[in-house]
Amino acid sequence: TGQSGAIMVQSLKKKNGRIDYANNAFEWDGVLKDTMRKIFNIKDFRLCQRGVCNSNMDGRDIVVVMPTGGGKSLTYQLPAVLTPGVTLVISPLISLISDQIMHLQDAGVEAPEKIAKSKRFVSLLQKLSDADRLTRIVIDEAHCVSQLGHDFRPDYQKLHVLRQLFPNVPIMALSATCPPLVLQDLLKVLRLKATVPGEDADRTGTASEGTKVYAQMVAWILREHADDSGIVYCLSKKDTEKVAAELATRGKIRTGVYHADRSDREKDKLHRDWHRGDVKVVCATIAFGLGIDKGDVRFVIHHSISKSLDGFYQESGRAGRDGKDSDCVLFLPRSRRVNTQFNDHGRQRRRGETAVNAMLEFAQNLTECRKTQFCQLLLPYHQPLHDVLAYVDKDVTLEAWQLLRIIEKAQKTGGNVTLAKVAELARSSGKAIGGTARKGKGKHGGAKEQVTVDLDAVCGGKVNLKKEEIEILLVHLGLKHYVRDQFYTTSYSTIAYIQLGERAPQLTRYSSKDHLDVLGALRDRKTPIPFPLLPAPRAKRKRNPSKAIWMATATRTPGFVSDIDD
Ligand code: ADP
Ligand code: MG
Repeated sequence: TGQSGAIMVQSLKKKNGRIDYANNAFEWDGVLKDTMRKIFNIKDFRLCQRGVCNSNMDGRDIVVVMPTGGGKSLTYQLPAVLTPGVTLVISPLISLISDQIMHLQDAGVEAPEKIAKSKRFVSLLQKLSDADRLTRIVIDEAHCVSQLGHDFRPDYQKLHVLRQLFPNVPIMALSATCPPLVLQDLLKVLRLKATVPGEDADRTGTASEGTKVYAQMVAWILREHADDSGIVYCLSKKDTEKVAAELATRGKIRTGVYHADRSDREKDKLHRDWHRGDVKVVCATIAFGLGIDKGDVRFVIHHSISKSLDGFYQESGRAGRDGKDSDCVLFLPRSRRVNTQFNDHGRQRRRGETAVNAMLEFAQNLTECRKTQFCQLLLPYHQPLHDVLAYVDKDVTLEAWQLLRIIEKAQKTGGNVTLAKVAELARSSGKAIGGTARKGKGKHGGAKEQVTVDLDAVCGGKVNLKKEEIEILLVHLGLKHYVRDQFYTTSYSTIAYIQLGERAPQLTRYSSKDHLDVLGALRDRKTPIPFPLLPAPRAKRKRNPSKAIWMATATRTPGFVSDIDD
């Protein structure tokens, strides 16, 4: 099939110098469609599936960027069934592999094997290749090869040997999140001959947090999704277990736990239970769900923010893969404590912080349409849809200045104050007392003392904002470097104390709006934002996908490319 495909290429129409695989007619058109219907029980191609299948049949290197649930698997499974030889599929996770096995078995296709990385395996591939029986190599979740992506896997980076070992075997790279830099990196790492694809960013979400996170979570799930399947993403393994236990006891919700320390057997079992509906809500680290094929996930909750925006994009995208309305709820932490989850120092840490800051910025920014933000940050070449939220302007220069003075005062008196403590201090009347000053040497050495701030003397009185608003403003000031976090780690926890940042001197009480970007912080709250920001009860909520604050499904045309070196 590959041979005759190559001959046909001569007469094919080209678009921008590229063979137009999506629109040309091919000799395999008929058999492709028949097989798709018979074996996979799928009536018509979706998105760019046809074009990808065609270029695959034609033996090209391909990068496919399609939304999660878009149907990437079909684009290699169908050609694999139709062409002689072996298609090697590389997946980063066991759960993902068992997911594929399950579906292929359902379709009556021989199950793929689980093979560990080993010399024996490579020599098996070598034998296949020598016999001209290695037809294509598929790398699923290909963004994992890039250090710039949200899910870098060192083992994945080593996949470049495949090109060296089997230079004539076409490679297909699949991903749902591939920002431009990651894509470039991916092409380089895997040594592919392909260029920029289009993408899809029609995913939205919004932010919230509450002090009684568990109670709120349970109430919301029971009210909105009592009988539905969902995922709660947590940052730590410990959190997954805690959240699962809380949901189970408070709400009698059937929960499961998934993280890297669970055994393969436990993971497989959970996976099956979840598919059957015996487990409704999986509390998991981001290890769960990569490529998981469950269409009816009705909600994804982030127990705390993702470590990066493209991570959030992908995780929230696991809801509503069947195209039906689904919700995505993000609990926004009050302090930037999420940073503490990163490695101690060095480049890794800085990269982590940059990514978290982008995520925080997204969560804080309610003036701009969520989809627009996704597009700008992840997919600058994509034309966004718009959903505009109503807002009122509020100049908070004075309040920002007051907060900086309070922090300065606390710092000068040797005090360590957390973000929440500053918010509390700022709202007390007259003399504010609180926070701990630790005099003496060492991180936590010396005697404890209370920080006292005379608000009238320090900043002309109390800060006239709600506590929640002050917290939001402080996070914003942090993102803009007017304040910064100072982390202290004890054996029990890491605490973030707030200090003046490098730009603090630039903010005076008379700073004009034009000079400062802190002022966007509270812009779009018509009324002070209620915490938690939970959606209205379902019955009253108007479900207009183009205006949804929550998840919307992705269906616009993604893209693919294949090489054109001949
Ligand atoms: P992903 O792009 O995330 O890998 P999958 O390949 O797992 O997505 O596909 C998601 C779901 O969509 C699967 O249940 C699959 O059977 C279904 N699907 C794929 N292509 C089509 C299509 N053309 N029409 C209808 N359903 C499809
Ligand atoms: Mg997939």
